[in-house]
Amino acid sequence: MNPFDYVRPAETSAAVKAGARDGARFIAGGTNLVDLMKAGVESPGHVVDVNALPLATVEATVGGIRIGALARMSDVAANALVREHVPVVSQALLLSASPQLRNMASIGGNLMQRTRCPYFRELLFAPCNKRNPGSGCAALSGDNRMHAVLGTSDDCIATHPSDLAVALAAMDAVITVRGPKGDRKIKATEFHLLPAHTPHLEHDLLSGELIVSVFVPEAAHARHSGYLKVRDRSSFEFALASAAVGLELAGGTIHAARVAFGGIGTKPWRAQFAEAALAGQRPSSQLFRAAAEAELKGARGHGANDYKIELAKRTLVRALSDLTGGAA
Ligand code: SF4
Repeated sequence: MNPFDYVRPAETSAAVKAGARDGARFIAGGTNLVDLMKAGVESPGHVVDVNALPLATVEATVGGIRIGALARMSDVAANALVREHVPVVSQALLLSASPQLRNMASIGGNLMQRTRCPYFRELLFAPCNKRNPGSGCAALSGDNRMHAVLGTSDDCIATHPSDLAVALAAMDAVITVRGPKGDRKIKATEFHLLPAHTPHLEHDLLSGELIVSVFVPEAAHARHSGYLKVRDRSSFEFALASAAVGLELAGGTIHAARVAFGGIGTKPWRAQFAEAALAGQRPSSQLFRAAAEAELKGARGHGANDYKIELAKRTLVRALSDLTGGAA
């Protein structure tokens, strides 16, 4: 591990100032950054510990719930407001990582976590455009069983690993960040970037900007929501495919639908084609399958991950069926 300096500011303004230095990284739970520093993938010269900042509150606010960026995953998952008003967020958190990690990891850090592509995390594999821009992508012709089928480019096919980010994308959440020029709000659907030709650019944050909170709007589809995660083992594993779904039902008809996929996209994947197919229709297995087909029609596998296209469709059908009490 390279040497670095360490500060622990007590005020957000001081943290932002320290975080704006070249080579600085914020750290909260450290469950991702410390791993990457040990592996040599990240070598920050300055580490800014934000744990002393007053950003851990979860509270009801006008029009929804505000979740502080330093709230721990386990606390948010167990929070009564979150469980009642947006159960998909609680479920996505509980299906993430392990209890020990959820006790340490923060909401802001969860959104900032980096891909689990093995070629990205192992320096012995030289070609990785995300770690070393312009070097190539070892996954394209390598072991890509866990990789993405939506939002890929010829330069990177890595999935985004967060479950929480998928739930937030589905629920129209808004992320507030604070930087040297003040506060800024970013839609959760626009926070993470597609890889295109710059896979090393992963999010919409500017230099020194720190996530301070996440706002989840109150909505009928948020109250009636859920998260389904399909993975190789039932705990402490990343998604092969996952679906965050929320439905507003009225008179047996889907009045509004929110859908996002995890485990299959290079970013948390808001499924607007699927939502359009569901809106105004009566729930049925045929409808759910048609919605899944509509979203996955542009999917592209790379050999070992071809199975994810069908798996994602089945995951969405089952998530919607579960939410509608087996209407399908
Ligand atoms: Fe690197 Fe992305 Fe290719 Fe993985 S998929 S090796 S992260 S460029």
